[in-house]
Amino acid sequence: MEKLKLGISACLLGENVRYDGGHKLDRFLTDTLGQYVDYVPVCPEVECGLPIPRESMHLEGNSDSPHLVTSHTKQDLTNRMVRWALKRVAELEREDLCGFIFKSNSPSSGMERIKVYSEERIPIKKGVGIFARIFMDHFPSLPVEDEVRLHKPELRENFIERIFALKKWREALAKKDSRGVVVDFHTKHKLLILSHSPRHYRAMGKLVAKAKDLPLKEFYSQYQILLMEALRLKTTSKKNSNVLMYIMGYFKERLSSDEKKELLEVIDFYRKGHIPLIVPVTLANHYVRKFDHPYLKQQVYLNPHPFELQLRNHA
Ligand code: SF4
Repeated sequence: MEKLKLGISACLLGENVRYDGGHKLDRFLTDTLGQYVDYVPVCPEVECGLPIPRESMHLEGNSDSPHLVTSHTKQDLTNRMVRWALKRVAELEREDLCGFIFKSNSPSSGMERIKVYSEERIPIKKGVGIFARIFMDHFPSLPVEDEVRLHKPELRENFIERIFALKKWREALAKKDSRGVVVDFHTKHKLLILSHSPRHYRAMGKLVAKAKDLPLKEFYSQYQILLMEALRLKTTSKKNSNVLMYIMGYFKERLSSDEKKELLEVIDFYRKGHIPLIVPVTLANHYVRKFDHPYLKQQVYLNPHPFELQLRNHA
């Protein structure tokens, strides 16, 4: 499988670029996810011309448009950082990124809840790092996360599902420029979308049905926006159980009463939080293979990302 491309805060890869000359190596990102990803490292503070080591800095002022200020000498670095960041995001357009992993708690790279200090030196955790904000404004539908959030199993799964879906979407469009490509992509992703958002599932079905009425580029753009919006919404055990019951509906007539009972029990155990999603999905996959069901066999929901990432193993 060809690797996908992600932007990443350089210190998370172990590069010694932090203000104190250190790094924040994250082994999951380098050793596990790194097997499937080519990273494009970005260190805003070093790339905008600041030295290593350097004075630490923080955000201050209004949390919606804070200033980046050094902690002791009070140098205002905002304009320098903004000028560099606007150029850098334009360069990153050429990289075909499927997402970005930011360093948490950084006044330059943090994507949320960054401390912003008032004149009275009271911090409120409502800021966004200067580069992170410019990046997210420039690429509003790209999946983004930070390394701390990625240690939470549901958020990790959600992010990885989105970046793999975006990679497949781009690959599909690269193969052929036609509405049929989107119809084929949509058919394969239907159950994955349903597991995130029944509302988007319906809206995307309607969009695909009226594809001929829209100019091609407009159709692609509307579909991609809805796809990324849908997958950003969290799956729940209820939504997943509904999808699993839907899958079972395709072959339940061919199951023995014991097999039916077992699958229903496993789905119910999952719904109640006693077992992880991988258990009912593995059993459903077994029947899909056994009955060689053509529609279900191609469903990305049953195999959304590399098995080795063990993403559906939490209850
Ligand atoms: S948090 Fe961002 S600015 Fe700070 S060292 Fe890491 S990559 Fe550089």
